[in-house]
Amino acid sequence: MNADNNEVSALRSEGGLVGCSSDEEPGGGTKKIPQNESTEQLVSNRSAEFLRRHFPLAPPGDWNDWKWQLKNSYRSVEELGRIMELTEEELHAIDNLRNRLPMRITPYFASLIYDTKPGDPLRRNVIPVVDELFQHNSEESDPLHEAKFSPVKGIVHRYPDRVLFTVTQFCSSYCRYCTRSHSVGQLDKINRKDWENAFSYIASRPEIRDVLISGGDPLTLSDEALDYILSRIRAIKHVQMIRIGSRIPVVLPQRITARLISTLRKYHPLFISLHFMHPDELTPECVAACERLADGGFPLGSQTVLLRNINDSVEVMKELMHRLLMARVRPYYLYQCDLIPGSTHFRTSVREGLEIIKGLRGFTSGYAIPTFVVDAPGGGGKIPLLPNYVVEHTDEHVVLLNYKGEEFVYPEI
Ligand code: SF4
Repeated sequence: MNADNNEVSALRSEGGLVGCSSDEEPGGGTKKIPQNESTEQLVSNRSAEFLRRHFPLAPPGDWNDWKWQLKNSYRSVEELGRIMELTEEELHAIDNLRNRLPMRITPYFASLIYDTKPGDPLRRNVIPVVDELFQHNSEESDPLHEAKFSPVKGIVHRYPDRVLFTVTQFCSSYCRYCTRSHSVGQLDKINRKDWENAFSYIASRPEIRDVLISGGDPLTLSDEALDYILSRIRAIKHVQMIRIGSRIPVVLPQRITARLISTLRKYHPLFISLHFMHPDELTPECVAACERLADGGFPLGSQTVLLRNINDSVEVMKELMHRLLMARVRPYYLYQCDLIPGSTHFRTSVREGLEIIKGLRGFTSGYAIPTFVVDAPGGGGKIPLLPNYVVEHTDEHVVLLNYKGEEFVYPEI
């Protein structure tokens, strides 16, 4: 699946890029300003072959233009059927789920899956299957009850000192297990007026010291829109840290341009939480995008959802965590899959998640071990889970189990 580093050639992408021209996202109408960027970006042999086969008339520079990637994304059975063989199950699911969680796949991500078989981990991430049409009675469209914690549109204020700010419902590719599958890709867009109401809300609550900008995917907005949002939040004195949650380096690494980085750098301390689910996502292009962000000085963390037959083994999870560290991304959270409609085929038991953590702790660097959490159904917030390392706990001592299953006693005074 992975293009080898030796297969990689470097292409130079230059141009007068302007605000994202997608009509599906709120930054699409932002002021157009000339862009003078010259970012060395990678095109693997795999991507080059895909481009040659399916976009024979496109100049190579187009591939590294993120707006070209967005404009040429695959959104229907007809479009996707032109580049890959789809199963009956996939065809049926794509057609029947377009009003719930639509399909959208960038040409870059399509180049990673177009010759795969059904069941391939990356293919399952973006192409629906009929299992999504079956809803278990524990599943609901807003499993974390975000609507209940939303004082104004776009803001979720669940914890005392921080808020989630969803600035767009648009993503360059839609993950089939997305917690916000009830809202991303939908017509009920978040607009400029909603942003203004959100800024006012954050400004009116001095206890908010941390703002997580999420979506949708915020990095699908234009540089100008991001600059505006970040400048408004940074101007609020009590906000200390700002975070951006994004899957862009995985599905659209071309978006990580020099111009984007110089826009974001003005707002340090700015943390970036990236979303990965499988080691095969760490292609040379993706790793290079992460490195550009790390060089920009942004602390990078990763969030991963535990998914059946995708990453539910110690071996796959360990490889993912190791490859993230090599890309300078620190594993942060491993999430138990949320109870969204049609997610049964993706979900594992909590016990399996604990076994994976048990298989990591002691067997690899502590930096490679994410915190395993359940985001409590009904809006209880994130609850961390650990395998049971405490055998006995009295007023005098605690009996502890190490990673080899050996017992040790520590006094309580
Ligand atoms: S990128 Fe994030 S918000 Fe968008 S579909 Fe995937 S998980 Fe959901």
